[in-house]
Amino acid sequence: MTAEATGENVVQPVRIGLCGLGTVGSGTFNLLRENAEAIAARAQAPLAIVHIGARRDNPACNTAGVRVSRDIFEVVADPEVDVLVELIGGTTVARELVEAAILAGKHVVTANKALIAEHGNELFALAAEHNVAVRYEAAVAGGIPIIKALREGLAGNHIEWLAGIINGTGNFILSEMREHRREFADVLAEAQALGYAEADPTFDVEGIDAAHKLVILASIAFGIPLQFASVYTEGITRLTPQDLDYAEELGYRVKHLGIAKQGPRGVELRVHPTLIPEDRLLANVNGVKNAVLVEGSAVGPTLYYGAGAGGKPTASAVVADLVDLARDLSAGQVSRVPSLSFSNEALRDLPIVPMADVETPWYLRMEAEDRTGVLSRIATIFSDHGISIEALIQKAPAPGQTTVPLIVLTNRAAQGRVDAAVAQIEALDTIEGQVVRIRVEPLDG
Ligand code: NAP
Repeated sequence: MTAEATGENVVQPVRIGLCGLGTVGSGTFNLLRENAEAIAARAQAPLAIVHIGARRDNPACNTAGVRVSRDIFEVVADPEVDVLVELIGGTTVARELVEAAILAGKHVVTANKALIAEHGNELFALAAEHNVAVRYEAAVAGGIPIIKALREGLAGNHIEWLAGIINGTGNFILSEMREHRREFADVLAEAQALGYAEADPTFDVEGIDAAHKLVILASIAFGIPLQFASVYTEGITRLTPQDLDYAEELGYRVKHLGIAKQGPRGVELRVHPTLIPEDRLLANVNGVKNAVLVEGSAVGPTLYYGAGAGGKPTASAVVADLVDLARDLSAGQVSRVPSLSFSNEALRDLPIVPMADVETPWYLRMEAEDRTGVLSRIATIFSDHGISIEALIQKAPAPGQTTVPLIVLTNRAAQGRVDAAVAQIEALDTIEGQVVRIRVEPLDG
């Protein structure tokens, strides 16, 4: 007897086309298999992978019984596929693939931060036009449900600022440099050997990956269009174990943060190494872990912490999107939650505050000749530029050196003023080399 004849409701599976069977693709494939029962119970429908697009097999996945195409575009052309899961990465073929899926009336789930940060505005508009959803929880902070928290859990708040450790590789490198007094290049080589860093690690260590993620978080938090080109991006390649040591002596840790703040002059969007007080929770997020601190007007500070990368943790976020989508579909809805949290009409083009105007306290380190008058000359230059000094510390010279390290902590000062003061200090004949500049963030408002 058929289900129809018995009057039972037949729940149709959500049919998934999975493109990319690498780290996240294989993690997603296996998670959907291993946890199928609980996932179906939560989604109110089975989630079935019906078609895989992969240039080659992945021994970690038993794909027997599933159609596999070497040409990923066959997946979007497949009328049996309801949802495309894009896990190939990059912004060229991935963009074509996602656009083709939307045009074919398929929903999209992606983990691709570069694609969303750089082309999200166009993709969301196209998806709205074709009445399909584009979901991207896995694009930021791996398994941490930060997009869901910002779009839904904090929807009653005015988001004032957020600050995150959103690149696990960079955080691993800084943690190792601090704990074991190792040089940047040495730890980077280990991160590559461990498979944390990409073969080309530029995106990780130059801050580009973090900038992609920050742009996405800022758009959802403040209701502004995605604008990757506006992010100030500075990596961790110039940091030395010496600076991490001095920061620690002063009661700080150096972290590579993505920071977005909304103020009367507009929005600050910046990724850079930052000194943060050592007693803050973010200061104690180590290794490849990620964490995002969000300050909401009603809730106050909230912190989201967990695995920011890896096959399984990222698959957790991909599957969460699939479950959400299945729930929406079973309720006869598409995109119950707007892509960037705010409705399209409500998105505002707020001005981006130029970095020269962004005020924070600063940590500065310079090498000075050990002579009378040097300190007072430096203090005068800061004062001439309206910068007040919080602390000035002279260290002992390193063995065999004639110069001494000088560490200056300033009060809040705009970057423009600090740059001008530093240019004058670097021109002094008693100063050797360049002045190291790192922003300080108290993370208290
Ligand atoms: P990956 O391990 O390099 O896997 C990518 C897969 O896509 C590979 O199987 C690759 O095949 C395939 N692929 C790429 N271009 C293709 C094409 N034109 N046609 C067919 N197959 C193609 O990358 P991943 O780490 O899984 O990352 C996937 C996405 O997730 C990226 O957008 C990444 O930013 C994002 N993400 C990754 C993580 C993480 O922890 N890894 C975390 C969050 C988000 P070949 O093997 O043949 O090249």
